[in-house]
Amino acid sequence: MGEKLSGKVAAITGAASGIGLECSRILLSEGARVVLVDRDEEALKAVCTDLGSQAIPLRVDVTDPASVSRMMPQILEQTGQLDIFHANAGSYIGGEILKGDPDAWDRMLNLNINAAFRSVHAVLPHMVERKTGDIIVTSSIAGLVPVVWEPIYTASKHAVQAFVHTVRRQVAPHGLRVGAVAPGPVVTALIKDWPKEKLDAELAAGGLMQPVEVAEAILFMLTRPRNVTIRDLVILPQSNDL
Ligand code: NAD
Repeated sequence: MGEKLSGKVAAITGAASGIGLECSRILLSEGARVVLVDRDEEALKAVCTDLGSQAIPLRVDVTDPASVSRMMPQILEQTGQLDIFHANAGSYIGGEILKGDPDAWDRMLNLNINAAFRSVHAVLPHMVERKTGDIIVTSSIAGLVPVVWEPIYTASKHAVQAFVHTVRRQVAPHGLRVGAVAPGPVVTALIKDWPKEKLDAELAAGGLMQPVEVAEAILFMLTRPRNVTIRDLVILPQSNDL
């Protein structure tokens, strides 16, 4: 157990699984209290029981504006403050545009960018009032380079990058830091639809990362001295998928 984040409160969306869960674990291990935000109530209950008393479950559907509007009052009711917000909930719909479902576009942008915007917007007034706070948004390597067989996901994560770049400048004068983490492929439920042969080949070649590697990168970002601007961090395995 470390103490790098002792006295801090973090909230992480999409925290019941994958990257968000590992981030919760690492922030807890450094002494933070962590509000795990997710729409999957059952999974939240199970992981929080496992993580201990400093892990606080909060059911929010980040694509539902009414649910997001209740998020910040509920966090403050439980913790009294929020120092770190990680907008991480997201999903993946791949595939060629010619074969795809046009409604997938709306679903993907609604979760990956609209919900990121709405949830970050919800926490800003509290952080601005306290003149301190760190915000991390989970982007993807698909936010930086076009992954050509993933047009919808690529568009949604490019929007995330653009959002982070512009918001960072706007809130910096208020003492807030904003950064994106842009991982390559990570072994989580998100890539469960990958064909088994592809998964096995990428694993054997070191082409996939574990969620803890992303969590460690985020901890590095969050523990930079406060006078250091948080930059975006790209973490890539040796993947053939890029
Ligand atoms: P995951 O499927 O393991 O976890 C996603 C979590 O988000 C789940 O617990 C799910 O219940 C929750 N969630 C989904 N919709 C929600 C909603 N509307 N409201 C609240 N919670 C919701 O996936 P992951 O790989 O950990 O993905 C986390 C983030 O990482 C996503 O933004 C994803 O785009 C990004 N990412 C993942 C990879 C990868 O290869 N796994 C690579 C780069 C970026």
